Amino acid sequence: MYLKSIEVYGFKSFANKIIFEFHDGITGIVGPNGSGKSNVADAVRWVLGEQSAKQLRGARMEDVIFSGTEARKPLGFAYVSLTINNEDHKLPIEYDEVTVARRVYRSGESEYLLNGNSCRLKDVQELFLDTGIGKEGYSIIGQGQIEKILSGKPEDRRELFDEAAGIVKFKKRKAAAQHNLEEERLNLSRIQDILSEIE
Ligand code: ATP
Repeated sequence: MYLKSIEVYGFKSFANKIIFEFHDGITGIVGPNGSGKSNVADAVRWVLGEQSAKQLRGARMEDVIFSGTEARKPLGFAYVSLTINNEDHKLPIEYDEVTVARRVYRSGESEYLLNGNSCRLKDVQELFLDTGIGKEGYSIIGQGQIEKILSGKPEDRRELFDEAAGIVKFKKRKAAAQHNLEEERLNLSRIQDILSEIE
């Protein structure tokens, strides 16, 4: 599994449609200060489901939409898509190539797409669980994040190891099963109350 390309349109400083293609080996993105290098990493985080505007260095989610310059009018929506080569099927989906996309309009309306089909944020999150790629993954290490990891709480650091060990999905399923069990216990006790009233 590897990142093949990123398409960006209307996201932050990218007013024109731009496609970043990644090949074998290491790819470096270089440019002067403020030219938009970090915006590429923000685009990846965003398409993978980042919900916090602060994590994307903005105040509101609308701030990810190109806000215009002296020479160009602001745009009405932001779009990012990420194409991953999945020939080794590390992503639990039958396709050899997976494209995840996200679009948001100024009105706040937004959508996620998986290989062109509309899907939920949850579907995107579940697809990337335990791959290290999700928005909580360790494949994007932002400025200052190493220090945060080293000086953070042990529980937070543990989450990183859980993701690398591939056990996050089992923990999530366990929590969901425990939640269901608790609901059933409550239902049972309600039924018992009703039964004892009838008897
Ligand atoms: P440095 O090397 O200093 O870290 P960088 O190359 O990583 O810089 P970024 O932080 O990615 O640069 O980009 C910052 C630029 O993006 C700023 O010029 C800012 O005006 C622009 N920018 C951010 N959000 C928007 C937006 N919504 N619309 C237009 N431009 C934006």
